[in-house]
Amino acid sequence: MAIVNSNMLVVKKFGGSSLASPDKIRRVASYLTEEKRRGKDVIVVVSAMGDTTNQLLGLARTVSQHPPKRELDMLLTAGERISMALLSMAISEMGCEAISFTGSQSGIVTDTSHTRARILDVKAFRVREELEKGKIVIVAGFQGVSPAKEVTTLGRGGSDTTCVALAAAFNARECDIFTDVDGVYTAHPGLVPEARRIPSISYDEMMELSFCGAEVLHSRSVEVAKRFGVKVNVRSTFGKELGTIVTRSEEIEAHDVTGITQDLNLVRIKLPSDKDASVKTQAVLAVLERAEVNVRFLHIPPAAAAGGSVSVMIPGDQKESALEHLERELPAGGFELDENLGMVSIVGQGICSRPGIAGRVLAALDSVGARPEMISTTGITMTMLLDKGEVVAAVRKLHTDLGLGEPA
Ligand code: ASP
Ligand code: MG
Repeated sequence: MAIVNSNMLVVKKFGGSSLASPDKIRRVASYLTEEKRRGKDVIVVVSAMGDTTNQLLGLARTVSQHPPKRELDMLLTAGERISMALLSMAISEMGCEAISFTGSQSGIVTDTSHTRARILDVKAFRVREELEKGKIVIVAGFQGVSPAKEVTTLGRGGSDTTCVALAAAFNARECDIFTDVDGVYTAHPGLVPEARRIPSISYDEMMELSFCGAEVLHSRSVEVAKRFGVKVNVRSTFGKELGTIVTRSEEIEAHDVTGITQDLNLVRIKLPSDKDASVKTQAVLAVLERAEVNVRFLHIPPAAAAGGSVSVMIPGDQKESALEHLERELPAGGFELDENLGMVSIVGQGICSRPGIAGRVLAALDSVGARPEMISTTGITMTMLLDKGEVVAAVRKLHTDLGLGEPA
């Protein structure tokens, strides 16, 4: 029996757009059988077909305004089950042996946080056994099982993380993420037509871009890739070889500013900035902690600034949880929700080390009439909060003025 050799192993993930129709599934199947015939051991992670996950979410809403998260996980994991089984059938039809596994069957062990679980361990015994029998092994992305045997999901886009975690578990040096774009761009090409593909980017920069709103990779997948040193190739499914390589910073050509991203899905919890502001803010933060809601930004104006308000910014997809807990635990209210703010972030190795960038950023924003409410910088990221309506113009102008549109 062949023992899986990490040099011959390939780990590949296909996103929903690559599997959106039976035809596309057959194309992926034929690509995988070719890889197999070239002597590779193949692990393939799949997402749900096309828009299935959104449709399932919509279906849940037709029967419940606040679906229990456990049941949401039961429902959403069905999406990946469909694509894994169909892909397996298509491969068999082409004369190769394949077998599909759910996250649980593949040994993807997670914590118990329904809808945003984290992978704790990969016990991929069955995957290994089937690879050793020469089969192409198909794993449902985005899902796992908790130690209590409950089915969990990893958060939207989580199949990238399944892919990287499996690559790490099998000591693969790299993995391929096939998606509908041919790589990571300097800005969202839908917003900025001059955006360019970034040939290689460091783990840290990619983590920041993903965390600040770029949807091309699940941010946890980059964390896992960095931790285990797995190179991630982001490529377009049926395109040419070029894409983006996410790797160690020593292996990339560094730029001052590498990319720009935006997040239009933020919610601000506003509290009056009066003399009790600190106590009230702490009460809100305590509730958010119990609701397992992350705080992205906290702004407390000086007590003397009359009429100001405290802002607690949270991710938009956690709004429901936050609201449910706030209404229940702080019945006196005293807060308001505001969904008019968006976030623009620039990411690059030189952001904090290179003087002058903040000034150029402010000048660019000023020239399109955008006035940031807050700016914060970390080592390689500068984030500004703007009115939602100002975000697109700001992204375009920053892209030009920071030189991102010019060939490197
Ligand atoms: N199907 C899931 C989603 O749409 C997971 C994924 O695509 O990675 O978010
Ligand atoms: Mg994705």
